[in-house]
Amino acid sequence: VLLIEQRKRVVEVGLEALRRGIVHGTAGNFSERDRESGLIAISPSGIPYPRTTVEDVVVVDLDGRVVEGTRRPSSETPMHTMVMRAFDHVDAIVHTHSHYATVVSTIRPYLPPVLTETCVVVGARVPVTRYGLTAMEDIGQSVVEVMTPDSRAVIMRNHGLITFGKSFEEALLYSMLVEEAAEVYVQALAANGGKEPNLVPEELVGEMTERFNIGYGQPRGEERGAGS
Ligand SMILES: [Zn+2]
Repeated sequence: VLLIEQRKRVVEVGLEALRRGIVHGTAGNFSERDRESGLIAISPSGIPYPRTTVEDVVVVDLDGRVVEGTRRPSSETPMHTMVMRAFDHVDAIVHTHSHYATVVSTIRPYLPPVLTETCVVVGARVPVTRYGLTAMEDIGQSVVEVMTPDSRAVIMRNHGLITFGKSFEEALLYSMLVEEAAEVYVQALAANGGKEPNLVPEELVGEMTERFNIGYGQPRGEERGAGS
């Protein structure tokens, strides 16, 4: 069986995303690239997370062709493979339809810097794509268009959120932090009569990020969090 460890992690990250409330039903999908073989383990299409087994996870190549597996891969496989072909820093992808990020996708060209922690961990702005045709190369193209070589998250217009890491742990953290910031942003807009709320001064984010990366947490860097 190819990519057994990656397949296990695809099953586990789906369950973890379900527990954290950022996916439901069969929405969302997850993939991890194996550097050695260049192959990718990706969620199967349309199987609820609690019922997904290691055998259900599909192994595809960088062009999205099935290499091993009895299930059909996620309908968004072209998006996952296109991002991994285009960006070398991406080895794990988490795609969800988390609620508040999706709300932001319908009203803004980007999520502005509203929470300090999200700014220093994910970046000052999270871009929103143009509208992309789902399950087609087009949606992958719409994501790649707004990415940079260190992108950690992109909000997909009228659709959801996609995050990029070296591991699922990283990508899942970015998903949580963007959703948290999007929730604060949407509620702050509502509480403020629709007017833009106070934002993190964008010119300070670069310097704060450097300090955060050097000084926060324990020396081994296994903890996460900011602002306290
Ligand atoms: Zn989706």
